[in-house]
Amino acid sequence: MAYSGYEDYFSKRVIISVATTGGHHGKEANPNLPTQPEEVAKDIRACEEAGASIVHLHARDDEGENTKSVERYQELRDRIDEYCDDIIVNFTTGGGGIFSREERIAPILETEPRPEMATVDLGPINFGQTRTAVNTREQNEEYAERMRDAGVKPELELFNPGQIPEAEHLIEKGLLEEPYWATAIFGMQNGMPAGPGNLVTFVENLPDPVEWQCLAVGKHQLPMTTMAMAMGGHVRVGMEDNIYYRKGELAESNAQLVERAARIADELGRPVATPEDTRDMLGL
Ligand code: ZN
Repeated sequence: MAYSGYEDYFSKRVIISVATTGGHHGKEANPNLPTQPEEVAKDIRACEEAGASIVHLHARDDEGENTKSVERYQELRDRIDEYCDDIIVNFTTGGGGIFSREERIAPILETEPRPEMATVDLGPINFGQTRTAVNTREQNEEYAERMRDAGVKPELELFNPGQIPEAEHLIEKGLLEEPYWATAIFGMQNGMPAGPGNLVTFVENLPDPVEWQCLAVGKHQLPMTTMAMAMGGHVRVGMEDNIYYRKGELAESNAQLVERAARIADELGRPVATPEDTRDMLGL
């Protein structure tokens, strides 16, 4: 039962996360998607001003390709510290099926300062015809343990409700601190299909005490994140998940998507969380 957010709906602040870049599509999909460190940092600055309190990041190399280079993540971090005020930095450990287990966590442990948060993918997910990010239980335990020891909050990425027992397993092993921070993901290739019933089912089954955000890809981003806000949840927007502002119209920037999420939160009667509010709510 993770509906506690609904009880104090009007006072409960909405955490807006922005995923600016991702590790998949690039400027060929939307020329406004930022890939280079300074470009990303300027974009994040605008997102922070618009109400984002967490930024979820994947680094890209000079050619815009997905990379796990620690140096590149450090460069990204340095530019963020230069351009941004107080936004919470969240690095991905994604890239299963491409990068090694150690490569995936190295930027989290080896950059300075360390990110306050990093993702843990709680199970397998398919990409295209031949790639599967496997994400074994053993790997999840290892990542959660190393993040705990490093003082980095795990963001639990759940591609379907069948991965909720993996979260419960990490809790039973004492690897997660309360409140848990979970992302319910919709609309991926072999993930949970988007839809109101599936959102309710997913969230009802998350282990308490939890704060959760909704992530939905492509055309599902706007309706699903709006439903999540109306349910007392939090949202993730940005061009990693969705390159469009509306049907047939590419997003001009990540900030444009954040601005809309903040406007919707306001219309729904919920205040938008600052980075400091988010730290309080998530126990960072
Ligand atoms: Zn990501």
